[in-house]
Parts: sequence; structure tokens; C-alpha cells
Amino acid sequence: MGQGRRDAHRGRYAGVTSAERRAALEVIAAEVRVCTRCRLHETRTQAVPGEGDPDTEVLFVGEGPGFNEDRDGRPFVGRAGGLLERLLAHIGWRREDVFITNVVKCRPPDNRDPEPDEIAACAPYLQRQAAALDPSVVVTLGRFSMATFMPGVRISQAHGTTRQADPATGAADATVFAMYHPAYALRNPGVERESFDDMAHIPAVLVESRERRRATRHPAPPPDLVAVGESATPDADQLSLF
Ligand code: URA
Ligand code: SF4
Repeated sequence: MGQGRRDAHRGRYAGVTSAERRAALEVIAAEVRVCTRCRLHETRTQAVPGEGDPDTEVLFVGEGPGFNEDRDGRPFVGRAGGLLERLLAHIGWRREDVFITNVVKCRPPDNRDPEPDEIAACAPYLQRQAAALDPSVVVTLGRFSMATFMPGVRISQAHGTTRQADPATGAADATVFAMYHPAYALRNPGVERESFDDMAHIPAVLVESRERRRATRHPAPPPDLVAVGESATPDADQLSLF
């Protein structure tokens, strides 16, 4: 396990087990694979639910599958994915250390922008994934993802900046960090350079968010203080001991 792997999921809050989180994500993925909630199902080869470490603290959200993703059923496997992997390597992380998904899970024909009604139809899946992962940091890749987690800003101003996530996104206690879309960066060398600079801030954003979460969550009481028949973990979020 490399440094990045430890960094990307150390401090994971222990209210839900890893197996429970994995199972919840698999239920969502299974629904996505057979989903017909919007017209994008008609033209897809396969849906792309997303993938990664169920115990990660960091969720990356792109726009939607492209040609390669639609063919393979996996997110960010084409050229944009290559850049995303290089961006992650810049801070010593690998794609398996984080969770990667998209705003829409099926490829828009000819890689057109996703339509508002398609984004709305697909939003519950992203919201449930965010709720299952309970990330410390959500990294938005591009305008459409940013519009979900950091609405009302322009990406030219907002990239490289943070905001607290609205709990309605499913990310109940996350810091959002906005980045340009890697496909856009591939077409603009200046944007690509800025993206490496932005990426370099993520470890510090993670540490800050992790500390904020620790400070605002009361720890579960030690087992000997828990009354017989009560469990320390399920209500740990709600415990108010001080
Ligand atoms: N672009 C995206 O937004 N998502 C992918 O999964 C691949 C390319
Ligand atoms: Fe369902 Fe989302 Fe695919 Fe539309 S894009 S069919 S809502 S999974």
C-alpha cells in the first residue's frame, strides 16, 4: 500500500463497515446498468456506474462516459482518463485510491453535453453514491459536475477553490474542490498546467476536511460506557457527550 493509498482513506469515519459501503455501491451500480430513466439508455452500449475504493475519502465526479467508457463500462479509460491518472500520480495517488464516477452514467451521443433533464434523471444515483461513500472531499471535473456541487460559479474563477457541499447532494459533510475537465485540459496546455497546480492542493484540502470532520463529530463512547443491549456505532453521529 503506497503513501497515496493511505492518504486517500486514512481517517475514514467508522460508522459504516467497509463491507456495507461496498454492498451499497454495488446495489446502485446494478440499478444503473439496467436503468432506462432517460433517453441516454437508448444509445448506450453499456452504462458506466463508476468505480474505486469503497473506503476512500475522495470522490471524483466527471461529466459523462465517452466512446471508450461506453465500450468498456468503466469511467475515464480514454485520453482524458490518461490525464486524470497523471494528475493523480502528481500527488502520489492512483485511481484505485479514490472513487471515480460521472454526473450522467450513460454516454451522450457524439459526446454532446448532457441535457438538464438527463442530469436530473441520473442525479439520484450520484446522490446515493455520495451518501454511501460519505467523502471528505468531492473533486468536480468540469462544468457539469461543478454545477451539481458548487452551483452558481464560473469554472474560470472557481477552479482550485473549495466550498462546503450542500448535504442535499448526498455528500453530507464534504469539502468540494473544483477542477477543469481533463478533456478540456488536453486541448489547452495552459489549462493543463493549471490543472496540475490545482491537483497539488488536494492533499491539504483533504487534511483540512478530515480535521474539520473529526472536530465536529463526537467520538463513540468506549465499549464499557455503552449500556448492555446498545451499540456504540449506529448513533455515533448523533452522540452528544460534551
Ligand atoms: N469524460 C468524463 O467526463 N467522464 C468519463 O468517464 C470519461 C471522460
Ligand atoms: Fe439512467 Fe442515468 Fe443512464 Fe439516464 S444516464 S439511462 S438516468 S443511468
